[in-house]
Amino acid sequence: MFNYRRKLPAFHERNIEDILKRFKLWKKFEDGELKCIICECVITNDNFGCILLSKEGTVNVACSNPECLEKVYDVIN
Ligand SMILES: [Zn+2]
Repeated sequence: MFNYRRKLPAFHERNIEDILKRFKLWKKFEDGELKCIICECVITNDNFGCILLSKEGTVNVACSNPECLEKVYDVIN
């Protein structure tokens, strides 16, 4: 279903802005439109889990819910 070549680990809160800006996701995040690719909950400072980069260059994020991260790991490995 998903095909990701690598995952960036969860970042300390103060780095989220830098990371999201780097992937041009900051606006979405600020607007409350950045959603977990697994459960589709809105990503906030409190539940940011990890960033996923696809081979096609698509960037997605997952929340910090253990169930979502587990699924993300399954996808990657
Ligand atoms: Zn989730």
